[in-house]
Amino acid sequence: QQLRQVFQQDLCRLAPSVLAGHDGYRADRLRQAIVCGELENFYQPKLDLTSGKLIGVETLVRWHHPEDGLIYPDQFIPLAEQYGLIDALTQVVLNQALHHARQWRDAGLKISVAVNVSMANLSHVTFPDRVVAAANKARFPLTALVLEVTESKLMSNQRITLDILTRLRLKRINLSIDDFGTGHSSLVQLHDLPFNELKIDKGFVHGACRDNSLRAIFEGSLEMARKLGMKTVAEGIEDSDDWNFLLASSCDTVQGFYIAKPMRAEELLDWHTLWSR
Ligand code: C2E
Ligand code: CA
Ligand code: CA
Ligand code: CA
Repeated sequence: QQLRQVFQQDLCRLAPSVLAGHDGYRADRLRQAIVCGELENFYQPKLDLTSGKLIGVETLVRWHHPEDGLIYPDQFIPLAEQYGLIDALTQVVLNQALHHARQWRDAGLKISVAVNVSMANLSHVTFPDRVVAAANKARFPLTALVLEVTESKLMSNQRITLDILTRLRLKRINLSIDDFGTGHSSLVQLHDLPFNELKIDKGFVHGACRDNSLRAIFEGSLEMARKLGMKTVAEGIEDSDDWNFLLASSCDTVQGFYIAKPMRAEELLDWHTLWSR
């Protein structure tokens, strides 16, 4: 165990700039980062619109790189997907999120935790069992766990995806369709796949108060979700105009920079205390 730790530290020290070099090299560096614990989850609050209360957080991973500082997921998630590292990455992010959620629960804060998953995660038959095992180990209720899947990446015609999503849902894990409105076959997917939450893309939320066609899409999505019995989340609340517009809507949950930016796990309890004063 000790030897392994030393070895991992050496790997971490060896690492030069991640942004330099070809993709294969960067993927090797990312593999080390996953093992070395350089990935840190940030959490962005999700509020119940009616009560204004904190009801959950979305997990957003960052890479704390020794030389390059904080790196955002758009810069390394595609690499992880391409180089077969996404299963390991998702597992590390999920375990960390459950660990933090356990601490929050122990401090009396009973909130849900959302984790982003990639399409590639949904093509391994063992995925549902691994998620359930991780939640059980953290003594975290499956009904408070949310998995967000980006709409544009979804393929409802793949049997395995449908099978895995169904098994997750049967365990009462919440399934959220992310970036809704940006994909191609939204409606077919809503019909075929067992999602119970619809997350409207920030492109339709921010600015909907000023733009008639954005507003039409936003309100149409809410209406459709309601009829399908799905919970609705609006992301990208950026200013007081967005906030006031949302307050007048029938959306269930809101999230955005205007409410809170993604923060470190240690900051959440203090933020919550300030917010609920
Ligand atoms: P996403 O799931 O759509 O997450 C929302 C993104 O919008 C986050 O960017 C968040 O910081 C940002 N955001 C939050 N509020 C606002 C707002 O009011 N205005 C604007 N303009 N943006 C806002 P971030 O953290 O850079 O993440 C980017 C994407 O990376 C995520 O988009 C998600 O698709 C992906 N991602 C993040 N963490 C993970 C992960 O652990 N696994 C996987 N597979 N993907 C992840
Ligand atoms: Ca998301
Ligand atoms: Ca989104
Ligand atoms: Ca996105």
